[in-house]
Amino acid sequence: MPRSLERMETNEKDREPVGRKEPCPCGSGKRYKNCCFKKGIMYERDETGTVSRLVHPDEDLEKILEEQRKKFVEKFGREPGPKDEIFFDMPPAEHLEAILSEAMKQAGVDPAAVYAFEKTGFILSTENKHLMSDAQLAEWDAAVDEYHRLHGDPGKD
Ligand SMILES: [Zn+2]
Repeated sequence: MPRSLERMETNEKDREPVGRKEPCPCGSGKRYKNCCFKKGIMYERDETGTVSRLVHPDEDLEKILEEQRKKFVEKFGREPGPKDEIFFDMPPAEHLEAILSEAMKQAGVDPAAVYAFEKTGFILSTENKHLMSDAQLAEWDAAVDEYHRLHGDPGKD
């Protein structure tokens, strides 16, 4: 198994989601299930008891889409239709990739994984790795190794 995958799995091991009946971590004073849970926001607690907001790259993409929808409404005074270009002011594809990379870094994703995403153009996670071909897995692993080579980090563990 590629080294990077093992690391990603270990990271998730000691974490648990915040319970729905607990006070919402956003500080609203409501229970989580009556607050951020309804908005699809997830929190998790690590082994030290620190609660952090769980951010998935997908969720960030949704946020970007929602932002674009709002901008569209502001500019044109109506909801975008099926034929409208919602990314009317969107930077080229590479920029969208950069936005995603930044979102991943802020979410605490292993920088080597972010680098691998930039190199390969796909995101390898524990959820989707079974869908990946051997060639893709090898490509991902090579990118992770390359990152460690470039940054003089032979892998901390
Ligand atoms: Zn909340």
